Amino acid sequence: MLQKWKYLTLLSLLTALLLTGCGGNANTPQGPDTPEEHAAEFFAMDTYMALRFYGGDPALSEEAEALVAALESELSVVKEDSAIYGLNHTGHTTLSDNGAELLRRTLALCEETDGALDISIYPIVRAWGFTVADPEADGGSTASRVPSPEKIAILLDQVDYRKIQQDGNDVSLPGGMEIDLGAVAKGYAGDKLAALLRAGGVESALLALGGNIQAVGSKPDGTGWNVGIQNPEGDGLLGVLSVSDRAVVTSGGYERYFTDENGNTWWHIMDPATGYPAKNGLISVTIVGESGLTCDALSTALFIMGPEKAVQFWRDHPDFDMALVTDSGTLLMTAGLAKTFAPAEDLAYTLEVIGND
Ligand code: ADP
Ligand code: MG
Repeated sequence: MLQKWKYLTLLSLLTALLLTGCGGNANTPQGPDTPEEHAAEFFAMDTYMALRFYGGDPALSEEAEALVAALESELSVVKEDSAIYGLNHTGHTTLSDNGAELLRRTLALCEETDGALDISIYPIVRAWGFTVADPEADGGSTASRVPSPEKIAILLDQVDYRKIQQDGNDVSLPGGMEIDLGAVAKGYAGDKLAALLRAGGVESALLALGGNIQAVGSKPDGTGWNVGIQNPEGDGLLGVLSVSDRAVVTSGGYERYFTDENGNTWWHIMDPATGYPAKNGLISVTIVGESGLTCDALSTALFIMGPEKAVQFWRDHPDFDMALVTDSGTLLMTAGLAKTFAPAEDLAYTLEVIGND
């Protein structure tokens, strides 16, 4: 049986699809000069991916699927022949050039976010029952899934991305440490797919990797792609953004979670400061920027930081845009994003635009 989060992942993908294609809607390009449309849909990295691109060789569809499959088979924490699985179990691995670039840039983002992003959190993620080898086992819905404070303290002792040693493609970990690139892999895959399509002559594409959206260029008619931001507390959308050449990545507590016997909800984004799922005032974070990898890293990290620190982080690094949904009913949006945002008519949050001071 599919777990609840899988339905929700599917739902968010359908939301993206509704906005991106499938006949007569806002993202359907028209006109005699529109290049031929190609599409690819597949399941990878534990989510549904739907790519749509205009022009280029139709064989790019297969190349795109193969690219994601290759990244997944290197980066998976659960596939026994992956490089990351090997690293976690032997303390050493040699990554491909792509894997090494991803790790290097991700470690820099762990540093930049002051350890809110910490890829060595994996033993904690697993102790909470997320990212396990058998997805059917994920979703056990009792208190038995909540680790003891003692267990959390022991595991947290091993969490520190600064102890990961990378020398080019070679990576080593101290005994007991394990890493997981799940917070950034889809974002990086989006960047690599966009580059693949561009190199193949595609100037217009919309790539939905689960909830991660990567827009290449604009729609063939020259207007921006419409991308919905999911309502974290309901089925609908908060509203729709218009974007060109941007990644739009959302992290939320509403996709992968369980409820314990006391009615507490625990989700898959962990606060490395506590070893518990991050509950710091945010229920969803959407990041819009040039790089899928950076947006994916920041959507996870700013979710953990909570609203005040997230806003401060943005003021210190204003090269991206964001939308934060707080647990007290506010939708905080940077001015650059608010300009392109069409709120849903029934928006249940108070929209507050944030500027540089
Ligand atoms: P999703 O993968 O659902 O789109 P995210 O991009 O926010 O969501 O990544 C969440 C995943 O990242 C978790 O499933 C877990 O594997 C991993 N993770 C959780 N907390 C952290 C953290 N503090 N730092 C790095 N990775 C994390
Ligand atoms: Mg992320």
